[in-house]
Amino acid sequence: MESLDKDPKYTDLNALFIGDKAENGDLYKELLNKLVDEHLGWRKNYITQDKNMISPQEQDSTEFKGTVERMRNVLDELSQRIRTESVPWHSAGRYWGHMNSETLMPSLLAYNYAMLWNGNNVAYESSPATSQMEEEVGHEFASMMGYKNGWGHIVADGSLANLEGLWYARNIKSLPLAMKEVTPELVKGLDEWQLLNMPTKKIMDLVSKSGNKMDDLKAKSARSGKNLQKLGKWLVPQTKHYSWMKAADIIGIGLDQVVPVPVDNNFRMDIDALESTINRLAADHTPILGVVGVAGTTEEGAVDEIDKIVELRNKMAKQGIYFYIHVDAAYGGYLRTIFLDKDNNFVPYDKLPELHKKYGVFTEEKQYIKPEVYKAYKAFDEVESITIDPHKMGYVPYAAGGIVIQDVRMRDVISYFATYVFEKGADIPALLGAYILEGSKAGATAASVWAAHHVLPLNASGYGKLQGASVEGS
Ligand SMILES: *Cc1c(COP(=O)(O)O)cnc(C)c1O
Repeated sequence: MESLDKDPKYTDLNALFIGDKAENGDLYKELLNKLVDEHLGWRKNYITQDKNMISPQEQDSTEFKGTVERMRNVLDELSQRIRTESVPWHSAGRYWGHMNSETLMPSLLAYNYAMLWNGNNVAYESSPATSQMEEEVGHEFASMMGYKNGWGHIVADGSLANLEGLWYARNIKSLPLAMKEVTPELVKGLDEWQLLNMPTKKIMDLVSKSGNKMDDLKAKSARSGKNLQKLGKWLVPQTKHYSWMKAADIIGIGLDQVVPVPVDNNFRMDIDALESTINRLAADHTPILGVVGVAGTTEEGAVDEIDKIVELRNKMAKQGIYFYIHVDAAYGGYLRTIFLDKDNNFVPYDKLPELHKKYGVFTEEKQYIKPEVYKAYKAFDEVESITIDPHKMGYVPYAAGGIVIQDVRMRDVISYFATYVFEKGADIPALLGAYILEGSKAGATAASVWAAHHVLPLNASGYGKLQGASVEGS
């Protein structure tokens, strides 16, 4: 079996789902029982000389039995209610909508198993195993997006990932203004317009140079509440997900700073309209805080031309205008795997059919992948941050969203502790809670995403095949 399990040629997606008619139900029960037994054994063998806490006499008592009876009844009622009032989205395509679908069996099993330990990934020491998995998942997200020095983590959902993206953009944009106060020598001779149009990479380089002034810089950044209105407009396509409104509200820039950009007949952001919007704002001396491109719009599945947004940014940079780019790939993020070979190379467009044939990504010979979509995905590695939801096209159970950043140094602009203290010393995964929006979070989610990524590698042979089947199916 060794060679069978290593060779991506042997990938049958139907082995990874419970099945409409529970065709793989016995397999699911077998694997679940094995995992539960392993957990129970772990309990029994952990410091074997410890005495039992619950005695057979107690288990025989009327109180005990009464309580068990109550638990059984509640679970019966729960089961009855869920069976009666759930939607049959698993059943032969009878129900399509609300981002519901069958989820991967390995993810369900991993979630169940890890849940028994109830790890909290807010901090490494409370969940060493699953924190490590989340760190790995973050790096997997990053390499899937083509980031060389990126980082990512699991978020409760795409809405929070988008909020975090805007959080990054806001704090980064505000840092040059803070430098003017705290480390003026770093930004000598630059006026406010130039400070507000500094490229992210340049800002991160200067932050790295600020040394022990970093905490003072952060204190004077947008997190202080100052300068929020100066940071400029947040441009989103008309197809925008409503989470962007919530994000602008909560992050404090306000809804008036959100500018919708019209879309074309393919529901993609109209790049000419984007350019004229930016020019109009710039003529008015209004900076652009950032531009959102969507990969897989929620209603239409459209993919904005990320490459053209990047191209426009390069062009405008020559005129001294710079904007942060966030790709909202909550829906379509995993589609990037369809372009990657097993060494994680983004293959040339004309080599795609060969790659797809090799792994049986599609069953029909149709041109499913249009050149515009190909180019859009190729350009992902040139944007600052990306939202990707495992609980959408990753086929992982809720709640599993994700965010990836291009440059791991960006973490420092939103973190709430001095990272250098930790980075110098031990080689442990990040204390997640310091770098993210959320606090306590399920280690089980990380286990669930990790398991999916390891059964289906993040390239055309694994997840790509799942995406292909999804595209063809729809
Ligand atoms: C689903 C979706 C979101 C939000 O994700 P949730 O996980 O539902 O919070 C954001 N953007 C797009 C494009 C989406 O499709």
